[in-house]
Amino acid sequence: MGGGVSGLGAALVLARRGHQVTVVERDETPMPASADEAFDWDRRGAPQVRHSHAFLARLVGMLRRDYPDVYSELLREGATEMRFGDDMPPAITNFVPQPDDAELVMLACRRTTFEWVLRRAAIAEGAVSFRTGVGVEGLVADGALPTPRVIGVRLADGSEIAADFTVVAAGRRSAFSDWLVELGAASVPEDVDETGIVYLSRFYRLGEGQSPPPRSGPIGGDLGYLKYGVFVGDNRTFSVTLATPTADEELRKLVSEPARFDLCAQQLVATQPWLDGRAVAIADEVHIMAGLINRWRRHVVAGVPVATGVAAVGDAVICTNPLYGRGCSTAFWSAHLLADAIAAHADDPIGVQVAYDAALRDEILPWYKSSVDQDIEARRVAAALLAGEDPDGDPNDPRAFIRSVLRDGVLTAMRRDRVACVLSHVQPVVRARRGGERRRRVRSRVCRVARPRQSRAGTAARPSHPRRADRRARALVVR
Ligand SMILES: Cc1cc2nc3c(=O)[nH]c(=O)nc-3n(C[C@H](O)[C@H](O)[C@H](O)COP(=O)(O)OP(=O)(O)OC[C@H]3O[C@@H](n4cnc5c(N)ncnc54)[C@H](O)[C@@H]3O)c2cc1C
Repeated sequence: MGGGVSGLGAALVLARRGHQVTVVERDETPMPASADEAFDWDRRGAPQVRHSHAFLARLVGMLRRDYPDVYSELLREGATEMRFGDDMPPAITNFVPQPDDAELVMLACRRTTFEWVLRRAAIAEGAVSFRTGVGVEGLVADGALPTPRVIGVRLADGSEIAADFTVVAAGRRSAFSDWLVELGAASVPEDVDETGIVYLSRFYRLGEGQSPPPRSGPIGGDLGYLKYGVFVGDNRTFSVTLATPTADEELRKLVSEPARFDLCAQQLVATQPWLDGRAVAIADEVHIMAGLINRWRRHVVAGVPVATGVAAVGDAVICTNPLYGRGCSTAFWSAHLLADAIAAHADDPIGVQVAYDAALRDEILPWYKSSVDQDIEARRVAAALLAGEDPDGDPNDPRAFIRSVLRDGVLTAMRRDRVACVLSHVQPVVRARRGGERRRRVRSRVCRVARPRQSRAGTAARPSHPRRADRRARALVVR
């Protein structure tokens, strides 16, 4: 159930491995005829589709290796590749391409275009059929409690679909846990961590005859009280996202007005070159999305599955802060981990659940934990800056130095040293784990590039901390 990235990923992999698949998608979604029509798609079940998306190397690698036909279609429909090594910042003079740099490819594309091409590929599979415009309202099960065996789904129109296996790909708002409890299964434990941000995005298109600015400059920044970035799309489109702290309603209200959003983006280093008159907005409104969380739902507890014959993929099982751009990679990846578990334990319903849970913990959970850790630190810094304090103000706290190296040192190093390559291997979710030797090399390169805090020239160039009184000035800037 669900026709987003994880549902379509599951449909593709299962169909190509010989299964018959029915995708039930609650949104009534007739197929658009072009990427631009897809941008107007009614996808209220996945409102994030009209926010900036970057498609990281893990997802791109899977598509290039296992779905070259789908990947070619994406490129044909206007998506472009962003290869590591192209457009290096001018300060990096020691860049020597390495053999595995070829893995570091991101895809620049609107999320609606990505999903439209994926959906088209799934439709073209003879083994996949779609039911759209009707939602799943519950599960059908037999088997002894407390571990029910799911044998199908119940739809909103009262009909049922029988299934050997049910894949819950219903996204972050999925009601899967409630349906399990309705069946008499144990409740599903979940870890939840607030991201502390609200997303505001706006899409633009380059004017006739206009070129994009050089890509060697920064693509975003973190001012503590405001994170922002520019995302290249397909077919000459791009988007800007501003992420405000949840607590800062004043700033959020200001930048939710299109004219002020534009004005704000025109003041920021990374977005200013894109909004110097070379582009026009392609939608009237600023899209806003709140309630952004990291969440991990555990469907196998102490080695015992809460149910068999059913499993959740994508955001329905693990979702992370969108700022890190990992969600579509982990969504597509989790669908493939589930397909592997189904293939390896075809006649063992409990074995499927246990193997899938182990694979999720091994491959995807580290990315969830990393998002939570990053968010804890980001919330701490944002709160200090909002209060007009220096987030690393206590000179006796050794953790302040480490944090400062991580935040300011690593970011500086990424723009000045080939260490950027090693970090890029990690950040775009290429692989779950790297060897200790590589980690040691990263640490020593970062420490060499990051100078002691007091002597760092760049520190003075950072924006001053906004005290309450400055907020008035900030409001004026975006007026
Ligand atoms: C603001 C924002 C920005 C993001 N930016 C990025 C990014 O840059 N890069 C990245 O990789 N990821 C990003 N993500 C994360 C990414 O969008 C998600 O991880 C991804 O969409 C998860 O895919 P999914 O298929 O699990 O869920 P979704 O894409 O949300 O799809 C769920 C589908 O299930 C359907 N559905 C729900 N309930 C039912 C039901 N009962 N019956 C039938 N159908 C149902 C919905 O209509 C929907 O189509 C972002 C997320 C947000 C919120």
